[in-house]
Amino acid sequence: MGFLKSPFSLDFYRLKKLKKIYRQIDALKDEMAALTDQELSQKTSFFKQRLAKGETVDSLLVEAYAVVREASRRVLGLFPYQVQVLGAIVLHQGNLAEMKTGEGKTLTATMPLYLNALSGKGAMLITTSAYLAQRDAEEMGAIFNLLGMTVGVGVFDSKTDVTVEMKRKVYHSDIIYTTNSALGFDYLFENLAVHRSQKYMRSFHYAIIDEADAVLLDTAQTPLVISGSPRVQSNLYWVADNFILSLKQGEGYYYDRERGEVWLTQKGMDEAERYFRQQGFYSLSNQELVRHVNLALQAHKLFTLGKQYVIEDGEVKLLDQTDGRTLKGTKIQGGVHQAIEQKEGVKVTPEMRAMASITYQNLFLMFPTLAGMTGTGKSAEAEFIQTYNMEVVQIPTNKPVIRKDYPDLIYTSIPEKIRASLDMVKKLHKKGQPILLVTGSVKMSELYSELLLLEGIPHSLLNAYHAAKEAQMIAEAGQLGAVTVATNMAGRGTDIKLGPGVEELGGLAVIGTERMKSDRADLQMRGRSGRQGDPGFSQFFVSLEDDIVIEHGGKWVSDYFRKHRDLIDENNPRPLTQKRFRRALRRAQQASSGAAQQSRGMTLQFDESVKVQRDYIYKERNAIIDGSSQGVDILQFAQDLVDWFLKSKKTLDQHDVERFILDYITYDFQDFPDDIDLDNRDSIGQFMMKLITKEWERKKRFLKKDYLDFERIALLKAIDESWVEEVDYLQQLRVIAGARQTAQRNPVFEYHKEAYRSYQAMKRNIRHLTVQYLLLSQVSYNAEGELQIYFA
Ligand code: ADP
Ligand code: MG
Repeated sequence: MGFLKSPFSLDFYRLKKLKKIYRQIDALKDEMAALTDQELSQKTSFFKQRLAKGETVDSLLVEAYAVVREASRRVLGLFPYQVQVLGAIVLHQGNLAEMKTGEGKTLTATMPLYLNALSGKGAMLITTSAYLAQRDAEEMGAIFNLLGMTVGVGVFDSKTDVTVEMKRKVYHSDIIYTTNSALGFDYLFENLAVHRSQKYMRSFHYAIIDEADAVLLDTAQTPLVISGSPRVQSNLYWVADNFILSLKQGEGYYYDRERGEVWLTQKGMDEAERYFRQQGFYSLSNQELVRHVNLALQAHKLFTLGKQYVIEDGEVKLLDQTDGRTLKGTKIQGGVHQAIEQKEGVKVTPEMRAMASITYQNLFLMFPTLAGMTGTGKSAEAEFIQTYNMEVVQIPTNKPVIRKDYPDLIYTSIPEKIRASLDMVKKLHKKGQPILLVTGSVKMSELYSELLLLEGIPHSLLNAYHAAKEAQMIAEAGQLGAVTVATNMAGRGTDIKLGPGVEELGGLAVIGTERMKSDRADLQMRGRSGRQGDPGFSQFFVSLEDDIVIEHGGKWVSDYFRKHRDLIDENNPRPLTQKRFRRALRRAQQASSGAAQQSRGMTLQFDESVKVQRDYIYKERNAIIDGSSQGVDILQFAQDLVDWFLKSKKTLDQHDVERFILDYITYDFQDFPDDIDLDNRDSIGQFMMKLITKEWERKKRFLKKDYLDFERIALLKAIDESWVEEVDYLQQLRVIAGARQTAQRNPVFEYHKEAYRSYQAMKRNIRHLTVQYLLLSQVSYNAEGELQIYFA
């Protein structure tokens, strides 16, 4: 970035180019308006024919967009504005269109969705919540219906019993509206399928991500994980938790607030050895203990009640960091959830083994073309380019923004800040101006709600505990006299329209009660006001005691706070006006979003190993399932197994050989031949291969043609068993890697080294298991003549 790349001039020329295309589209307006509904709808098959004859999708853009515009005018009564068409072109080009709240991104997306679906490979719109996916599909569906395109929604309500057929129907629609998590889980689940009949997806083609910064950046910090069978419950959570409580910060462990990391110091390790009466705390035999100590540390230092999670009905429930809602059925993986449960003294739930996982980054990178739209993207452009190869193009607003964003009011302490912000709310409320008051945490939103009650100001509270009504409540926030208290991004994606009489009062007032973790989040909140040329203003109240300042504000700020806190009169709050405070705040926020970016980078780096392995395994699995696999060369696999066995031991006795035969080749083995020389490994090897060949020939004779199916099923089972183990192992390794910081080694490097070793071991294990399944399984036919396999 820096001075070399000047986004303004770049965007200027870019917009000029876009406008040229727009004029071509706009020129077709009357021609399209003259068509009958039927003629308009026939355009779709006409475009498809042209594609079949060799024209490119790009060359259809102008006409296709003109068609969608006209269709929208007819069925929705909305004719896409110039700025929407400009955004739509950016989306087709696989970039990120920055369009402010209320500019009509939902409608904008219909143009590139239609255009890209013409190729018959499907186009997806991915958004943050099920509510938005359903709403947008419903509202925009009419356009696609008129144009003869099918629309599917990838989210179902919890009462629906979703079948494979239903999912297949969704994923084979022309246009698919879904959420990032539904898509991710569907992808992971599909790759657990063992038969073609359980598959439902098509390969990814084109996707637009709505609220792209929330999806691609904010939620992309933690990978998606599918968990399977429970792990054996351990009592180490309790032990580790007690141990951590006995340690002192800065002595026993070191906590880097800035980077959100925590680890034991040398002193802490010494104490651990004493406490657990163990030598060499980090030795391999202590792996489980180390993992639990590290988990307990994380639970205590990195997770705070009311911020990352709440306790409801005696259960730890996670909060969605982007909108503050409780995440249903989601747990932090790798045992962190259990460590938090232990810390809070609620019932520790069984820890599930991870079966499949993927980061959002790598999920979305599977789309050959990925586009995004959001009101706030420019400040993260460098990361969008680096991670997703997506540039951010700022689209001007349809009408000029007249909202006023006032400079922050900075106070020394939180009580002063709260007092001052409440005074402003009272004043505005008195004249009836609607207010959206946004807090950074659930706790704060509740505090404000209580204070407003004490003041006798009626209001709605939107936070994690009230997910259902959120959209309706936020939509009401622009009415005369409305006061709405909301967490961070609650209700994002729902438009706030001004009620009658509000414009005269100055529109919607957005009051922020602290700076959020990134300037994107701040801008998002301010942007709730002043949409489509509406009046309005935004004002943030901050203090030197705010989390972001404490975590990232630097030393002089905390020194200043310590020195001045006794002089504070909270009944008479006085803002700090010196420039250096404003600068400190800006820096703190930059540091905070920098730390988040770094952590996403780490997630991606760690996932690199998993990705390579996952790509390999999924490719193999798919080939096996669709029958294009090379199949199994069982004698080759067996030779490998035998060689491995012969090399595995210094000395071999008769018992070892018998054991091996019973474990891998046949249960039907009694007489150990006399002519085998136990000191001659070649002769043992030859004997084993002879046994294997005999056993396999016997099965093949019995199975006839079916032996190929049998091979495929056995191989798939071997892959799945080994892969699930590997996923779970890598997941745990990831947690341990964090704890290895102490040793001054590069944790990512160590992780990849170990991941590679386990990958090799897994591949070997797959071959060995396949041999075992093929030789030891019992096969038979039932009365209907179907093959029955009883795996060993
Ligand atoms: P965004 O996602 O950009 O915040 P939405 O897609 O939610 O905005 O649209 C905001 C509002 O603008 C909706 O009520 C929608 O019906 C309206 N709208 C969108 N496009 C147009 C248009 N071309 N003409 C009139 N109203 C429009
Ligand atoms: Mg939207």
